[in-house]
Amino acid sequence: MIGSGIAGLSYALEAAEHGKVAVVTKSVAHEASTAYAQGGISAVISHLDTIDEHVNDTVVAGDYLCDEKAVRALCADGKSAIEKLVEIGTRFTKAEELEEKNKEKEKEEEQNIQTGAYQGLHLCREGGHGKPRIVHCDDMTGKEVERALVEATRKHPNVTFYEHHACVDLMTSSSSSKMTLMSSSCALTISAMSTGGPRPDSAAVALAAATADADASRRFTTGGALM
Ligand SMILES: Cc1cc2nc3c(=O)[nH]c(=O)nc-3n(C[C@H](O)[C@H](O)[C@H](O)COP(=O)(O)OP(=O)(O)OC[C@H]3O[C@@H](n4cnc5c(N)ncnc54)[C@H](O)[C@@H]3O)c2cc1C
Repeated sequence: MIGSGIAGLSYALEAAEHGKVAVVTKSVAHEASTAYAQGGISAVISHLDTIDEHVNDTVVAGDYLCDEKAVRALCADGKSAIEKLVEIGTRFTKAEELEEKNKEKEKEEEQNIQTGAYQGLHLCREGGHGKPRIVHCDDMTGKEVERALVEATRKHPNVTFYEHHACVDLMTSSSSSKMTLMSSSCALTISAMSTGGPRPDSAAVALAAATADADASRRFTTGGALM
C-alpha cells in the first residue's frame, strides 16, 4: 500500500485481514492531507435523509459535471464508511455533547438529535447539502480520523509501516512487480508480500496506490508542506 491517508490506511486494514501488508509512506504515518481536513465527512446516516437526496445535492453542487454513477456509489457507501471509522475508535462529535457545550444553540441542536443519526452523531449542514449530513470531530475531523486509523493499523499484526520511504518508481513485468523506494539515507527495492512480510527484492502480489497528492502539483496549497 503506498500512502497512509484515509484511503491508504482504510484499504490496508481491509487487506490485512487477508495477508501481509506493507504501508509505504513518504513521511511519518500521520502526515497526510487527511490530517488537515477540518470540516467533516458527508454521509446519509439520519432517518430523515436519503441517498437520492445526497446524490442530487452533490450533482447540483458539481454543476452536473459529476459522474452520477460514481456519486451514487460514494453516497451509498457513506454510512458503512462512517460505521467502520467509529468501529476502529474515531471519536466523532455526538449531538448531546455539543448541546451541552453550546447551550445557546439549544433549539438547533434539539432538532439535530431528532434525526436519529447513527450512534447519536452530530450532523452539520454545509455547502450545497440540503440536509444536515456532515459527520465531524469538532473542527479537527481529519486529525482525529487519521489518529484512529494510524493507531488501528499499527496495532494490526499483519501490517508493517515503511515511513520516510518515497515510492519513486514502479517496475512491473509479466510475472512479478517491483517497486523502488528511496529514503533520505537508503534506496530499497521492496517486494514480496510473502509469509515473512515484505523483503528487499521479492515481488508484491498486489499493489495499491492512494497517494492523493494533486496538491503537490500546485504552486499554492492548503495541504501540508510534504504533500
Ligand atoms: C486543508 C484541507 C481541508 C480539507 N477539508 C476537508 C473536509 O472538511 N472534508 C473532506 O471530506 N475533505 C477535506 N479535505 C480533503 C481531504 O483531506 C482529502 O480528500 C483526503 O484526505 C484524501 O485522502 P487520501 O488518503 O486520498 O490522501 P492523503 O491523505 O493526502 O494521503 C496521501 C498519502 O500518500 C503519501 N504519498 C504521496 N506520494 C507518495 C510517494 N511517492 N511515496 C510514498 N508515499 C507517498 C503521503 O505522504 C500521504 O501519506 C481537505 C483537505 C485539506 C488539505
